[in-house]
Amino acid sequence: MARYTGAVCKMCRREGKKLFLKGDRCYTGKCALERRSYAPGQHGQNRKKTSEYGLQLRAKQQCRRFYGIQEGQFHKYFLMAERKAGVTGENLLRICESRLDNIVYTCGWASSRAEARQLCTHGHFLVNGKKVDIPSYLCKAGDEVSIKKGSLDSEKFKAVLEANASRPVPAWITAAAEGTSAKIVALPDREQIAAPVEEHLIVEFYSK
Ligand code: SF4
Repeated sequence: MARYTGAVCKMCRREGKKLFLKGDRCYTGKCALERRSYAPGQHGQNRKKTSEYGLQLRAKQQCRRFYGIQEGQFHKYFLMAERKAGVTGENLLRICESRLDNIVYTCGWASSRAEARQLCTHGHFLVNGKKVDIPSYLCKAGDEVSIKKGSLDSEKFKAVLEANASRPVPAWITAAAEGTSAKIVALPDREQIAAPVEEHLIVEFYSK
């Protein structure tokens, strides 16, 4: 399973916006984008005129990086989104939102999507009572996602849950009172999706 192993803050600096890839650090003065708000590399501080293609490419990269999805899989999601009824860009974001690692992060069971991905791989979660260790597993409306009982005893897990307990859960997910399980009421509308991207540019990028 391929994954990006380089410096993640460079991705925010390249995109010129916060993608919140490092959990709590993103909300502090230690955020690399706040300290060096220009693109990485020798020519990062040079002002460049961005072409139409450049804008479309950046929108696609921002979305991929925000959700931590590799190029091949992201393109597959785009093809899936095109086949669905409705607006392709919104369908694409909805597919990204329905990934198990994103649901785990959204529920406050991990401090970043990268951590959520790792916890999924380690088999800490159940979907409708069955263990699922595939971070890219696509959940559906009506699915119930929960933390495995044995995992709740681990100190690390307890600390992560405590640290993220105050994170608000969006209306499309209903979290149980004890905070260890959640039901997906319906997949989100565009206004319920926080991804900082202009999805119509992604559609234009792939439609060339
Ligand atoms: Fe991006 Fe977070 Fe790094 Fe800031 S700290 S640059 S928001 S990953």
